[in-house]
Amino acid sequence: QFIRDIYAAKADAHQPVISFEFFPPKTDEGDRALLEKTIPALLRLKPDFCSVTYGAGGGTRDKTLMIVDRIQREHQLPTMLHLTCVNATREQLRDVIEQARSLGVKNILALRGDPPGGNGEFKMTDGGFEYSHQLVALLRELGGFSIGTAGFPEGHIACKEGKHVDWEHLKKKIDCGADFVVTQLFYNNADYFEFRDHLTKKLGASVPIFPGILPILSAGQIKRISALCGAKLPSRLVSCLEKLADNDEAAAAYGIDYATEQCAELLREGAPGLHMYTLNKAPSTIQVLKNLALAH
Ligand code: FAD
Repeated sequence: QFIRDIYAAKADAHQPVISFEFFPPKTDEGDRALLEKTIPALLRLKPDFCSVTYGAGGGTRDKTLMIVDRIQREHQLPTMLHLTCVNATREQLRDVIEQARSLGVKNILALRGDPPGGNGEFKMTDGGFEYSHQLVALLRELGGFSIGTAGFPEGHIACKEGKHVDWEHLKKKIDCGADFVVTQLFYNNADYFEFRDHLTKKLGASVPIFPGILPILSAGQIKRISALCGAKLPSRLVSCLEKLADNDEAAAAYGIDYATEQCAELLREGAPGLHMYTLNKAPSTIQVLKNLALAH
């Protein structure tokens, strides 16, 4: 099933599209925990689709494909492959896309990716792509996929000209054929609303923009993640987390409350769904969806 069709059916029924994101673990033990415990526990909530990330530099290609394939075969749930342009020529990207097609993958999130190791500057591979809109265009040319693209409610961290220019770049990705946008995590809903309204009302985009939500698990974790991707933390969040710095259990409970409130407002104000960054952990996502009465 294509995500664009899942969205159309859910929108007709006035229901949100719920999705869960996983990453490929580094060890066999991690694989077993994810495939045998975390995923079955989360899929009891009956999400509409899942997605699996593609490690920095493309190093997880085979494992990402293996996990996508296993979720689709064992749970009959549409699972989106994340795909990045890092360290890959056009031909190599085409090979991965055809491999995904042969496994029955119908949905791909087209990303530029970051250089391995995090912060350095992106360097285009000879014979590869500089920007993700070129990957969107390749997928459109090859055909047979519903294509997603990444959006940044606070602007992409590397876009020196500011968020409005970054959002124009995003509009270009949509014009090249992306069917939907999944956002970077954020903690100020006002950023999402401004981003969505700018794209739809000023730039004329008409695709769904799924907000990405990461329930906070600990004070240290959220500071690391937001430093990496540039997400701002509201002052009330920071002061609560500072008080809970040594108590991960209390921080996770606070994270569940914060995400519940955040998601409830997003849905009330018209967000088309929720994309949960699970970090391969089930409890917080399960509790947030239960609080929202979205767990079936
Ligand atoms: P692009 O759209 O190419 O944008 C990159 C930068 O170039 C931006 O600053 C943009 O403003 C600028 N730009 C874009 N188009 C143009 C243009 N035409 N002219 C000039 N400048 C332009 N990373 C992974 O490695 N693996 C994953 O699985 C993964 N999953 C993700 C999932 C989501 C939902 C999100 C939001 C991000 C994910 N990322 C992942 C991170 C992502 O790869 C990085 O944020 C990366 O730096 C940008 O990717 P992009 O596809 O947005 O790039």
